[in-house]
Amino acid sequence: MNIIVCVKQIPDPETPASSFKVDEAAKKVIPAQGIAPVVNPYDPQATEAALRLNEADGGGKVTVISLGPDSARDAIKHALAMGADEGVLLTDSAFDDIDNFQTAAALAAAIQKLGGADLVLMGRAAADWDMGVVPSGVAQILGVPCVTLAKAIEKSGSALKVERVLDDGFQTVEVNTPAVVSISNEFGEPRYPQLRQIMLAAKKTVQVWSAADLGIAGEMGAANRVLTLDALYVPKVESNVEIIEGDSPEEKARNLAQKLRAAKLV
Ligand SMILES: Cc1cc2nc3c(=O)[nH]c(=O)nc-3n(C[C@H](O)[C@H](O)[C@H](O)COP(=O)(O)OP(=O)(O)OC[C@H]3O[C@@H](n4cnc5c(N)ncnc54)[C@H](O)[C@@H]3O)c2cc1C
Repeated sequence: MNIIVCVKQIPDPETPASSFKVDEAAKKVIPAQGIAPVVNPYDPQATEAALRLNEADGGGKVTVISLGPDSARDAIKHALAMGADEGVLLTDSAFDDIDNFQTAAALAAAIQKLGGADLVLMGRAAADWDMGVVPSGVAQILGVPCVTLAKAIEKSGSALKVERVLDDGFQTVEVNTPAVVSISNEFGEPRYPQLRQIMLAAKKTVQVWSAADLGIAGEMGAANRVLTLDALYVPKVESNVEIIEGDSPEEKARNLAQKLRAAKLV
């Protein structure tokens, strides 16, 4: 199958809370000094799903797309080192301050410029803004079905059988291709690139496209956002601890029960 995987580079979610800062006036996250961005943790699982599908099928092509600054090339290189065939980096100052809808529009335009795909795979959500809307947005623009939160995916004749993760169980659906599928963390561990594959990845092609190359420059930028960000702030977490006194465990338990009853919690 001809599969396109979308991967996003994000600030490292393991960044210590003390290094995480936002500029509330500008409504922007201030990048933590000395901590390199990483590939969104769900996206290597999407790459893994693409590679496994084509391995089971005996061949195919996997192209990786990332929209972001020049450093997002590293997210593409990681997927290439895992075994993807080629990459496309969408980078341009026209993409500054874009929202989820514009991101979906840019990714969909790149997919169309690549000639489309049998299957587009994405992560279930980007672990920075964590909205999980880009896969559905891309599917809507491309006019193809979208299946979200896949924990397993396999070919079933000319269609795909997808097992989805729900809040209270699992659901198996069949979907015709072309389709967009978002992969959940339950999919399992992605393969870890070996040194030789990392070196081979350096020789694989990464095309670089601007918004103008995609014919969408006029739709990008802050002026064309659909989503309005009202406020961005680090929430204050407050906790009050009260030590229940008592001369014996029984008295402490009695005092605790009285407190809970007074607070109408029991
Ligand atoms: C005020 C504000 C300013 C912003 N400024 C910028 C900016 O200047 N530039 C910018 O790029 N973003 C910017 N963003 C972030 C951007 O709007 C979102 O990150 C983007 O729309 C994706 O939404 P999400 O993170 O919720 O992705 P989700 O919908 O949670 O992502 C799901 C999956 O979609 C795919 N995906 C999502 N984003 C990308 C991507 N960029 N490339 C490839 N695949 C992707 C991945 O497979 C991912 O796992 C800004 C956001 C805000 C609120």
